[in-house]
Amino acid sequence: MSSYRRFLLDMHIPDWDQAFLSAYDPREMAARWSAAGIGSVMLYCLSHVGLAYWPTKVGTVHGALAGHDFVGESLAACQGEGLEAYAYYSAIFNNQAWHEHPDWRIVPSAPPAIGSFMGKRYGHVCPNNAGYRGFAIAQIDELLEHYEFDGFFFDMTFWPAICLCPSCRDRFRSESSLEIPETVDWSASSWCAFQAAREHWMTEFALLLTNRVKAQRPGIPVYHNAAVLLHNWSRGIDFDHTDASDFLGGDFYGGGLEQQMISRFMTGLSRSRPVEFMTSRTMHLKDHVQSKSFSRIEMQAFAAMSFGAAIRFIDAIDPSGTVNTGVYRELAGIYQSLIPLEPYLGGEPVEDIAVYVSDRSRMNFSENGRSIHESGLRSGSMPHMTAALGAVRALQRAHLPFGVITRKALARLGTYKVVILPDVLRMDEVEIEAIRKYVTSGGRLYASRRSSLTLSDGMRPGTFGLADIFGCDTASDAPGDVTNLAGTIAYIQPKDCDLIRAVLPQTMLSHDLGTDDGPGMVPLHMETQGAVLGTLNLPYGWPEAGTVEDQDWASIHSSPPWNDTCRPVIVEHVINTASGGSGGCTGCGRAIYSAADIESVDHWAHERFFLSLLGRLLDGSPTYGTDAPPFVWMNVLHQPMDQRYAISFLNHPSDDPVVPIHGITFWLSLPPACIPRVLTAVATKEVLAFSVSGAGAVEARLERLDTFQLLILDYSTEP
Ligand SMILES: [Zn+2]
Repeated sequence: MSSYRRFLLDMHIPDWDQAFLSAYDPREMAARWSAAGIGSVMLYCLSHVGLAYWPTKVGTVHGALAGHDFVGESLAACQGEGLEAYAYYSAIFNNQAWHEHPDWRIVPSAPPAIGSFMGKRYGHVCPNNAGYRGFAIAQIDELLEHYEFDGFFFDMTFWPAICLCPSCRDRFRSESSLEIPETVDWSASSWCAFQAAREHWMTEFALLLTNRVKAQRPGIPVYHNAAVLLHNWSRGIDFDHTDASDFLGGDFYGGGLEQQMISRFMTGLSRSRPVEFMTSRTMHLKDHVQSKSFSRIEMQAFAAMSFGAAIRFIDAIDPSGTVNTGVYRELAGIYQSLIPLEPYLGGEPVEDIAVYVSDRSRMNFSENGRSIHESGLRSGSMPHMTAALGAVRALQRAHLPFGVITRKALARLGTYKVVILPDVLRMDEVEIEAIRKYVTSGGRLYASRRSSLTLSDGMRPGTFGLADIFGCDTASDAPGDVTNLAGTIAYIQPKDCDLIRAVLPQTMLSHDLGTDDGPGMVPLHMETQGAVLGTLNLPYGWPEAGTVEDQDWASIHSSPPWNDTCRPVIVEHVINTASGGSGGCTGCGRAIYSAADIESVDHWAHERFFLSLLGRLLDGSPTYGTDAPPFVWMNVLHQPMDQRYAISFLNHPSDDPVVPIHGITFWLSLPPACIPRVLTAVATKEVLAFSVSGAGAVEARLERLDTFQLLILDYSTEP
C-alpha cells in the first residue's frame, strides 16, 4: 500500500427489507472518498451477514444488487478516482452460511448457544468444517478471477468460542489421541495441548485463505485482522497467526494507552511496514450516530503517524445506503493535514528498551479448574498483559525509547539495552535460553513475579527457569504454588538510596495481594546470589485481616506495615561475562528480578520505583528524551536511506481541549559517524536551531506544540 490515509465503509447490512441499500451509489461514494483526501479504501465483498456484494455463483447474492455488481462497480469507480482498493472478506462470521448449513456451525462449549461473540445477531461457522472451508475457498477464487484488487483483507479469523463441533472433536482426537478436556488447567499437558491445537488450526486456516489469494495474485498484500492478537487465550490465535499477514493491521476502540501498546506491538511483529491502525469515527462499532470529537479523531490519526503507521477510519453505511456527509467534510480536514507528512513517515523506530509480550501468557492461573462449559472464560483477566501495559504506560510517560517485542524477535534481543519480562506466566525453553544468552552476553534484564516459573506445556519445575540469571529463587514449598502469600496487603521496603528517594515521602510501597486477578508477589528464598534492593514488610496479624473478636490487627481502617521480614522482594544480580558486552551494554550482564509485579500498579510511587530500577539497568542516558509533560508522546524513527531522523511530538492529554505547550526541549544521540546538518519542522518548513552536547547529542527546543509536530533531522556521514 502506498497511502497512509485509509478508509473503510462498513456494510454489514441484510436484505430482508427492499429499502436496504436501495440508495447505495458506488460512484458517488468513491467520489466522496477521493474528495475527502483518502488514498486507500476497502470494499465489502462479504460482510458478517454473509450475502455477497458481487453476483456470485457460490453463495447467496445480496438482494439489493438487483442486476448490479457492487464490488465490480465500486472497484471501477475507485480505480477511476485513483484510489487503492482492497477486498474485505468476513470469514467464520457468516450469518447466511449459518442459516443454510446448520452442520457448519460452531458449537460453543459455553452458553449462549447463539452469538457467543458480540451477541445474538451473529452466526459463526467452523473453519475446521470441510464444507465451510471449501465454500470460502471457492468464493475467494471467484473474487480473484473477476476483480483486480490491490490487496485482500480477511476479518474475524479467530475462534469466537471453544468449538465442540464434530469436526473439531474428530480433529483433536486424530491429532493427539486425546478427547477435548472438560476443564481449564494450565498445569495439565492435555489442556495446554488443546489450546495449542486451537491456535495451530486457526493459523492453518488463515494461511489457507492467504495462500489462496497468493496463488492467483502473488504480488498483492494480504492481511488478517490483528485486533484480537492481545486478547485472552479464548480467541485461539497465537503470534504464528501473523505468518498469514504481509503486514499487521486491526481495529481498536480503546484509548491512548491501547494505541501506544498496539502500535508498538504491531510495529515489532509485522513482516513489513507500515502497520495499520483502524478505528471507528464513532465512539464504538455498536454506535452508529455518536461521533468522536474532531480533536480525538485527529489525535488518533496523528498518533498513527507518530509511529509511522497508516490510519484507517471506519464509518458504517446507513441501512438505506447513504452516509452522513457532514462527517466526511470533517474527516477531509484530518486526511488533508496528513498529506504533507507522508513523504517523511516510516523508518526504523529508535528503541533502547524492549517490553516482552508473550502469546502463551494471555491467560490466568486462577482459571484452573473452571469448566469449559462455564461462560465468562472469554473475558478472563490477563495479569501478564496488565503488567505489560503498565510497563508501556510508565515508559511512555518517562519518554524513554522503547518497543514491544515477542518471541519472534528473540534473535534480535541483543539490539536492546534493556529487556523487560512483565510477569510472563508461561515461557518455553527456547525463550528461556534466549533470555539467558542475552544476559550472559552483557544484556540487562528486568523480570517480575512469575516470569519463567511455568513452562508452556504446563510443567512447573518448582524453580525459576531463569534462577541462575535472577540470582534468587522461589521459596514456595509446593512446586509452583505462588499464591501462599495471597492475603490482604504486603509492603516493599526499599533498601537502596535511589529507590528510597524515588518513593519519598512514602517510606515504602504497598502491594495489594487481595485478589487472584490483581497484583501479586512470589515468595523468595532468604538466600540470594544477588544484592537485595527491597524486602518484604507485612502488616500485624498477616495473612489474616483480623476481626472485632480476635483483635488481630493494628489499625481499624488500614493494615499498616509492621513486621520487616528481611525476606527479599527485589534482587539485583550481576553476571560476569566471558566475552564482554553486546547490545549496547558493556562489561557485565545484569538482571533485576522483582517478586512483585510493580509495573502493574497505576500509581506514581510504583511508577517511579519501576523507573528507578530501569535507570540502574540503562547505565547512562537513553538515546533520546525530552522535558515535555508526561502526556506528550515523543517518538523517533530512523530513516538511514535518506540519512535523517523523523522526530515527532504529539500533545495527547486525556481530556479535550488540547492546549498548546510552549518551550519543549529534547535531545537525540546520533551514532558517532553521523553529523547533524539541518533540523526542519515539516508543517511550516521552519529551520530550528540546535546544539550538540559534549556527549554528542543533538539538543533543540520546540517553541510551541499544538497537536502534532513532525521534525526532520538530516545528517551526513563522514567519508
Ligand atoms: Zn468446530
